[in-house]
Amino acid sequence: MFEIHCPYCDEKRPEIEFAYAGEAHYVRPNAKEQAVMSDEDWSRYMFIRNNIRGEHAERWWHNAGCNMFFNAIRDTVSDKFVMTYKMGKPRRTPAQIDKARTAQNDGAES
Ligand SMILES: [Zn+2]
Repeated sequence: MFEIHCPYCDEKRPEIEFAYAGEAHYVRPNAKEQAVMSDEDWSRYMFIRNNIRGEHAERWWHNAGCNMFFNAIRDTVSDKFVMTYKMGKPRRTPAQIDKARTAQNDGAES
């Protein structure tokens, strides 16, 4: 078992307290956009998601804790969380992800 940092509780908690809640930063088209979308585009929005090998932006739910949703960058190869951040924060840039990974690796060595 591993631990996940909840940005709302600001502590690491056992993974069993969390649930995966889909891809992060996936925005539902507004009513105006939906009105002109083809069935194919709507279908793509509803069912097609990225399936990235490597660092993936995901939404997680602290369902057995504070009950809040948050975003995370998780390496799908190693299953390690690089960083977590609160909902509403912008998508993390590659530079921010690199910095978090470096800090995490430095912490692991000490
Ligand atoms: Zn929490």
